[in-house]
Amino acid sequence: MKFSNDFTIVQEALGAYWEECQGGDVRVINQTDISHIMEVLELGKWCEHGGLQGQNLKAFLGQFLGYHTRLHHSGYLGHQCAAPNPMAALGSVVNSFTNNVPSIYEMGPASVAIELFLINWMLDKVGWEPIPVGSDDRFAKLSHGSGVLVNGGSIANLTALITARTRMHPDVWQQGNSEGLAILLPSESHYSLTKSAGILGIGKKAVHLLEVDGQGAIVPDKLPQLYQKVQAAGQQPFVIVANACNTAVGIYDPLDEIADFCQEHELWFHVDGAHGASALLSEKHRHKLKGAVRADSLVWDAHKLLQVPSLCAALLVKNQTYLERAMPVEDNASYLFHDKKQPGMDTLHRTIETTKPGLGERLFFVLGAMGEQSMANFIDRQYQLAMEAYRYLNNLDDFVCPVEPQSNILCFRYTGSPVAPLVLREKILASGEFYLTTTLFKGVRYLRLVFMSPNTKLEHIKRLVDSVRSLAKITS
Ligand SMILES: *Cc1c(COP(=O)(O)O)cnc(C)c1O
Repeated sequence: MKFSNDFTIVQEALGAYWEECQGGDVRVINQTDISHIMEVLELGKWCEHGGLQGQNLKAFLGQFLGYHTRLHHSGYLGHQCAAPNPMAALGSVVNSFTNNVPSIYEMGPASVAIELFLINWMLDKVGWEPIPVGSDDRFAKLSHGSGVLVNGGSIANLTALITARTRMHPDVWQQGNSEGLAILLPSESHYSLTKSAGILGIGKKAVHLLEVDGQGAIVPDKLPQLYQKVQAAGQQPFVIVANACNTAVGIYDPLDEIADFCQEHELWFHVDGAHGASALLSEKHRHKLKGAVRADSLVWDAHKLLQVPSLCAALLVKNQTYLERAMPVEDNASYLFHDKKQPGMDTLHRTIETTKPGLGERLFFVLGAMGEQSMANFIDRQYQLAMEAYRYLNNLDDFVCPVEPQSNILCFRYTGSPVAPLVLREKILASGEFYLTTTLFKGVRYLRLVFMSPNTKLEHIKRLVDSVRSLAKITS
């Protein structure tokens, strides 16, 4: 097999795609009938006969990329997926090409080195003690932090809850769940946490909702009430979850106060920072995570605010003990684990996955190209833009925002017409100019903007306002 020129063809096609996104003249989203796309791309033909290389590949890519949702587009205000930095994408390419698997050291020493470095880099940002590197008595000292890169914040949240449960019930791996385990979390939490309760086999009945204020943030004074109520009902909470920040409206919970309560009652304190933990890099916004250092575990997605393609999520723990014991695999993986003295580190026993790609490469290649200060500046820019958009919308008579943004997420409602937000969204998407989502907040549906693209500016939000007004007029 010859090393192929097709790499150059892909590079050129992506370069053109990138340029088009910068210009913003193309559609941000191009949803047509799925059978039409399958037909245009002639998927069946290529599969049957092959030949999708060279000029064929070039022509194919032209059409294929045309049906992509463009995350780099200035009108992309949709889900919390990054508009990846090309360098981060190259990290994915290098790892896909070499297929090194950092689950075990011998399957990718360089990959594992990157992962270990990044985990320690993140631990340091939280204020936790890093995994000692290069010392022989690594396992003698137990109080340092630990972590692992996994395929997404949802899996990271699940892993955190598995770890928390292991502390309360060290024999759960052998014995299964004991009766009455409970989780306390705010109503604004990501659904992956409730899903985790189902997967853990403790059930949705074990999930109890903490009271939140008008912005959707946990009210610390109300913690004792729910805690006692759950206990009185015969359940034992083993973890409290707080958001930094929450998904729907991007509000940070008061972590320090929640840490006080968890400390007093010896509860595992988990911070879901999937979206907003990246603010730890920012001088300006780090204070929003005050108290995170007192948590037991924290989830941090790099594929949201760090310009990294999906997926690259970190689960970090302050103390490695329970993560190291949470998912023992020695029993039935004798082909992997035997008495070996190795110069590196395996992470297989910390993950739900067995084989996993070099997730660290995606983050490291962009971080290494930009440096962490530029990354911090990017986060500041996106947070600042949400604030400017808020001030602009809030000053208009026919727009309302339910909360002042604390991150790069902004919700609003158009009050100039009775057209429902879901109908408006459909019209906006059909126009191809903007891509945005909606959310329910306090029982009311809002249009929701997430500022992910480095190309979005305030002028685009002004254009969105015009667009909303005229689309609402046509519709009503
Ligand atoms: C995005 C998000 C998740 C889920 O992360 P994935 O990487 O999409 O699995 C969990 N929690 C919060 C707060 C999030 O914003």
